[in-house]
Amino acid sequence: AIKRISLQETAERIASEFEFSDKDVRRAVEGFVRQMNEGLKSPGCAIEQLPSFITEVPTGREEGTYLAVDLGGTNVRICSVTLNGDGTYALLQDKMPIPVALMTSATSNALFLWVATMVREFLRKHYPGSLKSDTTASIFDLGFTFSHAVDQININSGTLIRWSKGFDIDGVVGQDICALLQNVFVELDVPVRVTALINDTVGTLMARAYASPQSAKTILGAVFGTGTNGAYVEQASRITKLDGVGTGAKGSIMIVNSEWGNFDQKLQYLPTTSFDRAIDAGSVNPGFEMFEKRISGMYLGEILRLAILSLTTDPKVRLFAGTLISTTSKLYAQWGLDSSFMSHLESDATVHLSVTRTQIEEYLDISIVSYEELEAIRIISHAIGRRSARLSAVALGAVILQTDCLRTADKGRIDVGVDGSLIALYPGFLAEMRTALKAVEEIGAEGEGKIDILLARDGSGVGAALAAHIAGKVV
Ligand code: ADP
Repeated sequence: AIKRISLQETAERIASEFEFSDKDVRRAVEGFVRQMNEGLKSPGCAIEQLPSFITEVPTGREEGTYLAVDLGGTNVRICSVTLNGDGTYALLQDKMPIPVALMTSATSNALFLWVATMVREFLRKHYPGSLKSDTTASIFDLGFTFSHAVDQININSGTLIRWSKGFDIDGVVGQDICALLQNVFVELDVPVRVTALINDTVGTLMARAYASPQSAKTILGAVFGTGTNGAYVEQASRITKLDGVGTGAKGSIMIVNSEWGNFDQKLQYLPTTSFDRAIDAGSVNPGFEMFEKRISGMYLGEILRLAILSLTTDPKVRLFAGTLISTTSKLYAQWGLDSSFMSHLESDATVHLSVTRTQIEEYLDISIVSYEELEAIRIISHAIGRRSARLSAVALGAVILQTDCLRTADKGRIDVGVDGSLIALYPGFLAEMRTALKAVEEIGAEGEGKIDILLARDGSGVGAALAAHIAGKVV
């Protein structure tokens, strides 16, 4: 009985370390807005604010057929998108896992050649007439979604700042990745012109804007998946670090890829537990992406894993002391616990926590678990997920204030496009995020009620097609 009380108390104490109060939210929103503005003024800031050189937001009336390639995560996606001009589209898509060897091969040419071969196969399958070596055959315009940090030079070129997500190919940093892709199309005689380069969050924003009603104003595209990031609609004149280049006329806009995962690098606003410190120390990029490391799918499961482990070694509670843990349990493997595990726990509405029990028995390979142990893990998991959602609201709240959209769109609604498995699948994530948003004084319940947060499906494909469309108008 002593153990039981102590276990629950300890779990609640750990859960309380993940609290992020309304006051904390307000303070962090202020800090976020400040760091957004710093990033607009000078390069090399915590929030990098990378200009996309896309200076219009889709209206929904765009038409035409475009190709799109999405390269960046675990898969490459190749699609053709026909924009119907009424907010709808038709999409054909092939998706292939990127061979791990290509992510770290000696030269980038192997990776890009593989992509170009996939595009050629895609055309052979879906547009068989297009590959005839007939000079009158039409050339496809292609939008390229590339979700690593890129220093964009204009709408169709940009140099790689750094690889992320397990990619590491020498000699590519500093190179124009559009040119690398275009070169292999030329080499293989594939009739494709790379006309636009975008980040996946820019694609999410554009896809949402295309689909959203005319009366609504889309301000943000945000991703909560493996990582987290957002792109938003900024006043071009505020991007003073561009020094006039591409900022257009007064009153014009530009979509900016914030790279907000690196917000608050100096930890002035973010909550930090011993588990957060351990995650950062064990990561490939210690000291960077502090915001992302407290929010996104890649890290949440690991935070929980470390918290559970701390309970097993705590002599006062000795979690799992009477149980059988396989030595190969995912509990002992760094990054072993996927955040989908937490979604299952969060969805458990059974009296005996049988969903949680199954997860722990099957996923973690741990048997003979007591109800108290299940409950303790659930309490901590919930707290970690809740903190992630409340921190996500900080980014959203800051963009709402920075764009001043509540005042300028007083009649219409505000649209936010979101994508990523975490926000799409974690039960209650969106609701927690909305609750925290209301706590921001300048937003409140009234402001929060004007905001629609909707999944932008196929964001990378449709967004890239829209970017290719816009790029075609520019030249
Ligand atoms: P990506 O961000 O790589 O494009 P996703 O949006 O699918 O791809 O995000 C993958 C991330 O989402 C992984 O970190 C994974 O752990 C997490 N994830 C997958 N399914 C779920 C789920 N049901 N609940 C919470 N997180 C999930």
